Amino acid sequence: MRTRPQASPCRRVGGLLLALASLVWGQQRELKPGFNLFSKQQDIQLGREGASQIERQVTLARNAELNDYVVRIGRRLASQPQADQYPYSFKVVHDSNINAFALPGGPTYINTGLIAAAENEGQLAGVMAHEIGHVALRHGTNQASKANLIQLPALLAGALLGDGSLAGQLAQLGVHFGAGSLLLKYSRNAERDADLLGARMMSHAGYNPLEMARFFEKLEGEGAHRGAVAQFFASHPNPGNRSKAVQEEIRYLPRRAYDADSGQFARARQMVNDLPAAPKRGAAASIQDLPAGRPSGRFRQYRGREFAFSHPDNWQTYGDRDSAMLTVAPREGLRQSRDGRMLIGYGVMVSFYFPQRGGRVDLRRHTEELLRKLQQENPGMRVSSEGSRRLTVGGEAAMQTTLHSESIFAGEAEVDLLVTVQRPEGLFYMIFIAPEREYREIRDTFEQMLRSVQFAA
Ligand code: ZN
Repeated sequence: MRTRPQASPCRRVGGLLLALASLVWGQQRELKPGFNLFSKQQDIQLGREGASQIERQVTLARNAELNDYVVRIGRRLASQPQADQYPYSFKVVHDSNINAFALPGGPTYINTGLIAAAENEGQLAGVMAHEIGHVALRHGTNQASKANLIQLPALLAGALLGDGSLAGQLAQLGVHFGAGSLLLKYSRNAERDADLLGARMMSHAGYNPLEMARFFEKLEGEGAHRGAVAQFFASHPNPGNRSKAVQEEIRYLPRRAYDADSGQFARARQMVNDLPAAPKRGAAASIQDLPAGRPSGRFRQYRGREFAFSHPDNWQTYGDRDSAMLTVAPREGLRQSRDGRMLIGYGVMVSFYFPQRGGRVDLRRHTEELLRKLQQENPGMRVSSEGSRRLTVGGEAAMQTTLHSESIFAGEAEVDLLVTVQRPEGLFYMIFIAPEREYREIRDTFEQMLRSVQFAA
């Protein structure tokens, strides 16, 4: 059950009076976070976990002077009252795409491509102030809160008890830091509010807020939805008339000298130009869309309580040591269903099946039971004509069954390779999932993962 907090009648009258007052005298719009099921502390926790995921995927710029420069600008902005005292951090990502993003609770990333595209420190500060605005107004978790995820309130209540990773649990509901993530893709209204709050923050910090609007408009003018800036505008849609909106906002801001410029911008941009060429992949921006999430070819080990195996190092694990279900997938391989379940189109599910009647596990009989259950849950799923075959996994008797179904990617057919292993605690299974046309490419990876499985003694 989800209920939205109702404004009390007096608050509503108060709001009406304010609205009237603003009609008569003109009034700065009040900016505050919207409906949110997360606590501020959960924003911070989620951002920390997200940051550690993201920093495994991106290449941070290795230039301490450049980093310090960006951190100084960030701290100056983050210490203004508009930033609302979150534990902000600022990092430069070595990526030529013009992009920047901030996670809930404060971790903020700025691509070298963005620094190279800015004309002055005010423009760089503008993008950073805008990102800080999203954090302070809690736009990411506001969107997740409004997404009608039935299990979210219970999950957040449980997370208060402090067990497991919040990011991992949210991923089970399909909320992750991947392509088109609810947490990083904002509405036009959110963009407008981040602009306004950013403008106030800039002015307070001694930067000319107009530089922010000018920079966004310059980028927009340069063919925003293609090429190097596409990712920024995919997650930050243009609210329109930015300069005009900021100009109007400036009328309400106290007059002051814009004297924050450190004079170091040209040097910072030179340092960006002197960096070796940015790596082609694993770029920050690419958290928006890694090329179809194809396995990197490098492996990393997952070690759970009952089993361990290796998986492509650019795939994420969702779920933790204690959860009944582990998913290993690239972010792009996941979608969320209308009822809030996580759907997998590309990746691997790992779990135990416990026979309905209890008792000893029988490989063939209980594999068939599991197959029937999977078919119930996935209408249209059928067993391939090849049928099942026996094999050994982690030194134990196992069965492999190939299935065909409809992919979550529209119009694609899917191959699901089910591998079941008889274990004392239950029927261990892995389902390797891929769109049919990717299957040939990925089969070797799946087999390598399968060969790496080890069970606890
Ligand atoms: Zn934005």
